[in-house]
Amino acid sequence: MRTGWYVFMIKVSHMSKYYGEYPAVLDISFTVKEGETVGLLGPNGAGKSTTMKVLTGFTPPTSGEVSIGGFDITKNSFDVRKMIGYLPESVPLYSDMSVIEYLQFMAKIRGMKEGIVKRVNEVIEITGLEEYRKVLIGKLSKGYRQRTGIAQSIVHKPKVLILDEPTIGIDPVQVVETRSLIQSLGGEHTLILSSHILPEVSTICKRVLVIHDGKIVADDSPEILSKRLRSTQVCEISVTKTAKLDVIKLFRDQSYVVDIRTKADSNPSYNSFIIETSSTDSVEEKISKLIIENGLGLSKLVSLPLSLEEIFLQLTTD
Ligand code: ADP
Repeated sequence: MRTGWYVFMIKVSHMSKYYGEYPAVLDISFTVKEGETVGLLGPNGAGKSTTMKVLTGFTPPTSGEVSIGGFDITKNSFDVRKMIGYLPESVPLYSDMSVIEYLQFMAKIRGMKEGIVKRVNEVIEITGLEEYRKVLIGKLSKGYRQRTGIAQSIVHKPKVLILDEPTIGIDPVQVVETRSLIQSLGGEHTLILSSHILPEVSTICKRVLVIHDGKIVADDSPEILSKRLRSTQVCEISVTKTAKLDVIKLFRDQSYVVDIRTKADSNPSYNSFIIETSSTDSVEEKISKLIIENGLGLSKLVSLPLSLEEIFLQLTTD
């Protein structure tokens, strides 16, 4: 039974999962609101799949509590399963069934009794499988098999969609198409997606939980993570061309400069450089002062945001 109205679609409270003595996930807590798109980002072995298996009721937590839509996953696993669509790391597809047969079969397994044919046709359309509806799953490319996996995860109209590494091992063209499919599904579902591929979470998700060694080490939007975790700053400058001054040496001699390299500039009157600095304290001011003091004309000075890749490296190499 659901007790009272629920505030969060997903609530994870001090959840740990041990495999024998080994803590694959250790004391994690987080909440997800209805309609949020959350990326679970971490390297291999971080604990992403384990977290997802617990959320879907596939495996029980060793300790802690998890609820989906107000239902406790261990006490109300039947109700929870109806609310969740799950794409596991390797989808158990039946290679000798056609796409349509498999999806109708999965709809029945998920407890659907009416409107199966109509709904299966709908998901075939949503996932772009129209041409393949009668093709045996064993004959599909990996990308189309993955679409079939996504189709089975949404066939019963779940509120929550949990996708474990949905684009792993598929070719680049299909990756782009699969990502935009997932992005469109994000609109009507609460979505949790795991990935070790940074561009994936940043294009699809509004919020990123970074997981490392079974613990959540960051929880923010991709943009805020970038600002909060920045310990080095990267700037681009364009200055007037001069033969009189070695600009690279001038900057290298400054204590706050970590690195400087030239960047091709389309304007023949200017030279552009990318400068990496160690401090974030009024770096732009220091750079512009240095340029003016040395009689150089400044046409551009911009701070470049850190990529998620850099953030991730900072977090996980610590
Ligand atoms: P990720 O999905 O981030 O790659 P996993 O959740 O699959 O990470 O794994 C987390 C850790 O738990 C890894 O060290 C992995 O080897 C271990 N692990 C995962 N599944 C099992 C299992 N069934 N038995 C024992 N150890 C496991």
